[in-house]
Amino acid sequence: MRIDLHTHSDRSDGTLPPDVVIAEAARAGLDVVALTDHDSFDGWGDAAEAARVHGVTLVRGVEVSCRYAGHGVHLLGYLPDPTYAPLTTELQRILDGRNLRLPRILERLRDRGIDITLEDVRAVSHDATATGRPHVADALVRLGVVQDRTEAFVRYLGPGGPAYVDRYAADLVAMIGLLRDAGGVSVVAHPWSGRHDQSALSAEAFSAFREAGLAGIEVDHQDHDPTTRSRLADLARELDLVATGSSDFHGAGKVDHDLGVNTTAPEQFERLMDLARAARAAAGRGSDLVPV
Ligand code: AMP
Ligand code: FE
Ligand code: FE
Ligand code: ZN
Repeated sequence: MRIDLHTHSDRSDGTLPPDVVIAEAARAGLDVVALTDHDSFDGWGDAAEAARVHGVTLVRGVEVSCRYAGHGVHLLGYLPDPTYAPLTTELQRILDGRNLRLPRILERLRDRGIDITLEDVRAVSHDATATGRPHVADALVRLGVVQDRTEAFVRYLGPGGPAYVDRYAADLVAMIGLLRDAGGVSVVAHPWSGRHDQSALSAEAFSAFREAGLAGIEVDHQDHDPTTRSRLADLARELDLVATGSSDFHGAGKVDHDLGVNTTAPEQFERLMDLARAARAAAGRGSDLVPV
């Protein structure tokens, strides 16, 4: 059984519609796939329909923009009730922060002589609910300013870059609780990716997250080298957290993140689903659980 628990569609910064992500997952030989767009559930409906058609098991997910001790951390949430108001309110606050940031980024780019408008970004962001820097990057590519997203992040959009603008992110520990109260489970995404400061997410920090209800750690991810993977796997084992592996597929938006490039072991997935069932029973709510 091949399981990939982290993918993006064009409802956030992936380049393929949700149904095409699922079709591609089936083509890539995956049996289970989670759609985890940034800060939004909007792709779930189309993905579920495609999952039925292609005989793939869909895990309804989301990747929430969080902050912990001043550092940006991405938290994967699986199977939360998408109508749980405290959760949807907080996600809307994050989406509002994204929409407020966008014109400020463009202003900074224009200050540097780059003629870019909100319409240029809308032309590439299509159906995205969660607009972000990758869409600005795509617009810059289209305008011939940079070659690809990576160059856009390095030259303009990354932290410390001339067009970097901060935005609202949820408190990580509070979000772990919100996802649990929504009957879901949470996994810290690519915790020690090079973009993050490793010291921020120490063993002690993970221990505290576990106390707050964290279910797992994304261990196998393209941003983690072999040493990092083995250290995170040890940490997951010590803390009795689920260890996942995923592609973080973004379509053409991220090279080297093909569907199934990393996968989650079936026994780890079963543990995650067991925890989701327990959370669902405790909260009296949740999203559709997968049959395993
Ligand atoms: P945002 O959500 O607007 O803050 O932008 C962050 C997103 O940009 C992440 O989810 C990544 O998918 C993407 N990203 C970050 N760095 C790069 C990069 N160097 N090249 C392509 N995409 C990137
Ligand atoms: Fe992304
Ligand atoms: Fe992420
Ligand atoms: Zn992601």
